[in-house]
Amino acid sequence: MHTDDRDVGSQELVWDDHIANVCLRNLFASTNQAIYFKDLNCRFMFVSRGVVQHTIDRERRKGSTHDLDLGPEDFVGKTDMDLFEPGLGLEWIAEEQRIMETGEAMVDVLERDTTFDGPGGWYRTSKAPLRDDDGNILGTLGISRDVTVEIEAQQELLRREAQLRAVLDSSPDAIACYSPELRYEMVNAKAVALLGMPAEQVLGRTDAELGRSPEVVGTVLEGLARVLTTREMCEVEYATHSEGGTNFWHVRMVPNLAADGALNGVISATRDLTELKVAQSVLAHQALHDPLTGLLNRLALIDRVNHALADLERNPGRIALLFVDLDNFKVINDARGHAVGDQLLIEVASRLAQVARRSDTVARLGGDEFVVLPEHVTGSYDAYLLATRVLRGLEKPFVYRGERFRLTASIGVVVNTDPEANAGDLLRDADVAMYRAKEKGRDRIEMFHPTLRDHANERHRLASELRRAVEKGQFFLVYQPFFSLGDHSLIGAEALVRWQHPEDGVVPPAKFISLAEEFGIINALGTWVLDEACRQLAQWASDDSPGAGAGPIMPGPRMPGFIMAVNVSARQLGEPAFVGLVAAALSTNHISPAQLCLEITETGMIEEFERCRETLAALSAMGVRIALDDFGTGYSSLAHLRTFRVNTLKIDRSFVEQLGAEGSDGAIVAGVVAMAHALGMDVVAEGVETGEQLRKVMDMDCDNAQGFFLARPLTSEMMGRLLADHLSAAVGAPPAL
Ligand code: C2E
Ligand code: MG
Ligand code: MG
Repeated sequence: MHTDDRDVGSQELVWDDHIANVCLRNLFASTNQAIYFKDLNCRFMFVSRGVVQHTIDRERRKGSTHDLDLGPEDFVGKTDMDLFEPGLGLEWIAEEQRIMETGEAMVDVLERDTTFDGPGGWYRTSKAPLRDDDGNILGTLGISRDVTVEIEAQQELLRREAQLRAVLDSSPDAIACYSPELRYEMVNAKAVALLGMPAEQVLGRTDAELGRSPEVVGTVLEGLARVLTTREMCEVEYATHSEGGTNFWHVRMVPNLAADGALNGVISATRDLTELKVAQSVLAHQALHDPLTGLLNRLALIDRVNHALADLERNPGRIALLFVDLDNFKVINDARGHAVGDQLLIEVASRLAQVARRSDTVARLGGDEFVVLPEHVTGSYDAYLLATRVLRGLEKPFVYRGERFRLTASIGVVVNTDPEANAGDLLRDADVAMYRAKEKGRDRIEMFHPTLRDHANERHRLASELRRAVEKGQFFLVYQPFFSLGDHSLIGAEALVRWQHPEDGVVPPAKFISLAEEFGIINALGTWVLDEACRQLAQWASDDSPGAGAGPIMPGPRMPGFIMAVNVSARQLGEPAFVGLVAAALSTNHISPAQLCLEITETGMIEEFERCRETLAALSAMGVRIALDDFGTGYSSLAHLRTFRVNTLKIDRSFVEQLGAEGSDGAIVAGVVAMAHALGMDVVAEGVETGEQLRKVMDMDCDNAQGFFLARPLTSEMMGRLLADHLSAAVGAPPAL
């Protein structure tokens, strides 16, 4: 049969060998599929255009750039070994031989081509034995489709999915996709951990089916339902409770919208807020509490006071505020270290809390200052009673590591009925009252009264006046002599400062020394006193020099033992420059260090313990004398005397005063004198006002005495004259005391 004999347009086609052949050739020439027939020796007999195309694509994939000039005829008679890499060719030939041997086809198998450069394209291949009509195998036929693009796209999809999964699993949030029926469709690793069961058990179930707690299910469901209806993001929070404690969770839910806007469900991200909540509450606690004692701090107190004031507006009544300041706490802190101080403060806080009712506010303002704000007071007396309870609460000794400490406090109480008052004012008023309690001798309660505020204002006014007075030099010194109780000779004089106030006249030191200390004026004032006393001593000596006026005092040898005693505040000793100032005053005035005695109070010494010790050691090394002033009014601890190198002990006036009184046997004073002597100190009895007292202090073996009975503080001229008289008399007999 010949094709040219047929009229394609009019004639009906009959499927015969000829037409089959035509169809086959047409198919082979047009299809993209690689179709081939091979003989028993696996040689190509016939290939489709697709085989040629596959081969060209394969070469391209390998990187070949030149155009391959191939046609189906180029395959005929060749095997895969001739056309492809030997390994691959051999594999395919083996495959075909197996098919021919077994007669079994291979259907739609995904194969991967390998080239010298590594893995190549992907093919879906079917191969079958080629049989004649009698069933004899003549070779093989194969049909193969290049699926590289699809497979690579699929692989890319898988890769992206894995990447996405890794991203999801690395999220600290538990992420889940819910179907529109609110069943889990996807969960990340964190969600698996949160739900506590493997993903397989979770997927396809609802929260309720997973047995989550009804509260959680309720909260989550409400959020999910809202997202489904509003198609908007929604956030909910819930807490879970377990043996380990309470955990807080935040869930953010967003609609899972398809590109076409269809709602595919909800995506939720659940975050563990526990740490954040804990941190927040710690911060909130810290912001309002004192870290040492756990009491409320100033900020919280002010808030409470403001609340109490606001209440006052609604329910007229009164509020009270107790300002509690420990007495001499700094002494313990400095002498015993902060660790001890801190423990004592903690104990004080707990005692205050015990004294107060649960509903009262107890706060620590800082340092040794506490405030009690009772919830309810009926009047001033009520507040006063609470304050006495506080004092009593502190009475029992504090024991720390077996050591006992006694603490007292000064308490200022303010009672207020005015809702217009503010917390700052109340605190200030209570502070003013507390300050008054300190001034009145500590360990006591003072009720605030507006005149106290005037008193405080007055102190401020006085302080600025005092500062100006130092600049203007409105001070002068008087000198109180002290005498030997042995031979009645004049031993020395104590310089005592006076303020020549332009309006108020002469102001005694009791009125301004503590003020000068408090307002930081003491160093300037003290330096002036030291310089002036030394200058005066030098002046008396030079007055005595031959030809220097009428004064009979001889310089040098005749008054070498005369001692100038200068009072020094502990604040001055704390100044690093102090030793230098003393040395300068001595050398400028050519005074021997042994002629200068610095008087310091025991309280002052202990308050500035560490620095005092160093300064006093340096002064002692220089040869300057040190006297412990007002002994008996402070701690009266002889142990301290050994720590500091003290030359002289000045027994306070209050002790001497008692000596004259009936029933006083002076045993304490006698004991102190004996101890001082044992420690190598000499003893001065201060404030001797009567002959009786003088006799007693002599009996008690005091070395020297000072007091109005012997001499009042004298002006420099009077003192100079006394010195002259005394020295000239000393040539003869000692003056009668
Ligand atoms: P003090 O150092 O104990 O000085 C003795 C005080 O007792 C002086 O008071 C003195 O006048 C007074 N006095 C002396 N004998 C008697 C007596 O028999 N009876 C009575 N009732 N009083 C007597 P003054 O001068 O008022 O000084 C008071 C305190 O002021 C001093 O006590 C001292 O601590 C301090 N002071 C005085 N001058 C200075 C100074 O220049 N610097 C410093 N830091 N403090 C000073
Ligand atoms: Mg003194
Ligand atoms: Mg004294």
